Amino acid sequence: AAVVEMQGITKTYRSGSGARTVEVHALRGVDLTIEQGEYVALMGPSGSGKSTLMHIIGLLDSPSGGSYRLGGRSVEGLSEVELARIRNRRVGFVFQAFFLLPRLTALHNVALPLVYRGVSSAERLKRAKAALESVGLGDRLDHLPSELSGGQKQRVAIARALVQEPDLLLADEPTGNLDSRSSEEILGLFDELHRQGKTIVMVTHEHDVGARAQRIVRLRDGRIADGGHP
Ligand code: ADP
Ligand code: ADP
Repeated sequence: AAVVEMQGITKTYRSGSGARTVEVHALRGVDLTIEQGEYVALMGPSGSGKSTLMHIIGLLDSPSGGSYRLGGRSVEGLSEVELARIRNRRVGFVFQAFFLLPRLTALHNVALPLVYRGVSSAERLKRAKAALESVGLGDRLDHLPSELSGGQKQRVAIARALVQEPDLLLADEPTGNLDSRSSEEILGLFDELHRQGKTIVMVTHEHDVGARAQRIVRLRDGRIADGGHP
């Protein structure tokens, strides 16, 4: 089944007003299908629309036109509240800057998203522990972010994304803040998650990072130049 199905997605940013309105056509008609279990790298030069497309895939932003189905469900015309609810359930985000809360241990950082899902405290900690074990950090549960290496912090962030069992793991330049050894640690983990059947979409401008994915989708001037379909 397709996790992401996009047809003719456009995004136009407008700034200024009246006669001085400037339009930027960030996406000019994107057709993209991502099947369950795929590991996709989204690549392209700066300004080609990667961030915009990633934000639309993750329901952080709405397209100006076209149709988008996430997990088989059309997200057109949904309210902000509805979109947020679907986003929280279906999409796990990983960013270049880990965004861990500095005063919370690894375990409590990972358990946090479940608070908003009404999961009981004991169950939250149990699931957070399992998520941390699945990224190889079972021996770092009680460490604060400041006590972890860059690669370990990113693994905590990945565990936090996975704890909700999302349909899709969306990673924006996940190795952008890491040295080559830690990058390898994260890419090795993505390989493992892919083998387990997780669906991963990673935005990167680094060729050797993108080459690790199963499929490369190349954007150019707001259009898909290559790799839009499995
Ligand atoms: P990439 O991630 O590939 O660098 P982006 O999606 O960030 O590309 O940007 C695509 C185009 O849209 C660029 O020309 C960029 O300047 C423009 N853009 C992105 N975000 C905005 C915004 N909020 N307002 C106006 N223009 C934007
Ligand atoms: P990143 O690509 O690191 O995720 P952003 O999404 O913040 O960064 O921005 C991507 C591109 O969009 C940048 O080139 C930036 O200059 C451009 N951009 C972002 N916001 C605006 C805006 N409000 N107006 C014009 N360009 C923007």
